[in-house]
Amino acid sequence: MPMGCVLCVSACPTLVADSTNARGGPSERPDKIGGKLRALIVEDEPADVELMLRALRQAGFEASADVAQTAEEFTDLLRRNPYHVILADYKLPTWNGMESVEVLRREGLDVPVIVVSGALGELTAVECIKQGASDYVPKDHLVCLPEKVRRAMQDKRLRGEHKQTLGELARSNQDLEQFAYVASHDLQEPLRMVATYTQLLAERYRDKLDDNADKYIHYAVDGALRMQTLVQDLLAFSRVGRQGAGLQSTDCNVVVETAVKNLQTTVVESGARVTNDPLPVVVANGSQLLQVFQNLIANAIKFRGSDPLAIRISASKQGKEWVFSVADNGIGIAPEQAESIFAIFKRLHTSAEYPGSGIGLSICKKIIERQGGRIWVESETGQGSTFKFTLPATTPPGELRSRP
Ligand code: ADP
Repeated sequence: MPMGCVLCVSACPTLVADSTNARGGPSERPDKIGGKLRALIVEDEPADVELMLRALRQAGFEASADVAQTAEEFTDLLRRNPYHVILADYKLPTWNGMESVEVLRREGLDVPVIVVSGALGELTAVECIKQGASDYVPKDHLVCLPEKVRRAMQDKRLRGEHKQTLGELARSNQDLEQFAYVASHDLQEPLRMVATYTQLLAERYRDKLDDNADKYIHYAVDGALRMQTLVQDLLAFSRVGRQGAGLQSTDCNVVVETAVKNLQTTVVESGARVTNDPLPVVVANGSQLLQVFQNLIANAIKFRGSDPLAIRISASKQGKEWVFSVADNGIGIAPEQAESIFAIFKRLHTSAEYPGSGIGLSICKKIIERQGGRIWVESETGQGSTFKFTLPATTPPGELRSRP
């Protein structure tokens, strides 16, 4: 067969014109043996093409194929036709079949690639799979091909379903976020009226009505103020998702310094000693990172124990990420609550014991996850808490310096 020619294998009775979906392959996806199967075979040996098709047909597939030998032919066929699967020889005279994975990526297509090759060591086979091939079948073992094709297509279907579920989840989260934003934003004004006028009532009519009236007005003022804090925190939570990523080079030493300065009054009142090791420069949203450190330091102060409070902030590089830690010697958290405290409104204490709305940590989680990191706590009741979070180490660390 001359090089560079496209071979349409017509041994199959019909090359069915499937109805196609947008960019993924034929809409009909036979991930059971027995269905119609349209393959794009990257191969320079017509006899091998025949053997592959025979193996598929013997297993019950109604298989048809186009054949490409070069990157140009391959790309052209992909653009013009939908395929269920790519069967690619590893080494062609002028092309490496594995490059088909790269072409598929460039074209934005999700079609499984099975490497069908002669002498391919186990290491190379594993390397092909690492690079994105779905599977590998040796040419002298074509009897395995139908099952591998079936499995690759089933995996693709599952990937599609997973992607769709994630898309639906993202949409529903967006709707919820929008709702939380609108509700908390629009509630602010009427709430401000309630809070202002109940406070006015409390001032003007204190001791002028009976004892019960004073008590009821006090409850109303307290409730209105707590609701105001809640609504403001909820608004802050939904704002995290509405702001752009705003990533920039951020010196964490400066961020921590600012956080401590912003909390100066509480730091002084509590007698907290806040220290930090040299911290890196990261690519992050500086003002959101400030919010994270401020929330964590404020919590360490709020949930302090009877010992003089010590808060230590540090960071270490682990692989491709920075792991930050904010450690305190406060009241600690029972390990079984370690996950739940990051949920919105989750609190382990009443407002009478410790004020708050239970939103601070959920804001930290949202900020960190939006910047590609994770956040968690390591703690035992009565043993202090160490909150840790990661950020991608996308730039070399800047000059390290610590708080004296
Ligand atoms: P809030 O501080 O308003 O209660 P958060 O979302 O910041 O809300 O925290 C949730 C809960 O996690 C707190 O109510 C508290 O029980 C627990 N928590 C957070 N930080 C600490 C800490 N440093 N030490 C002990 N418990 C903490």
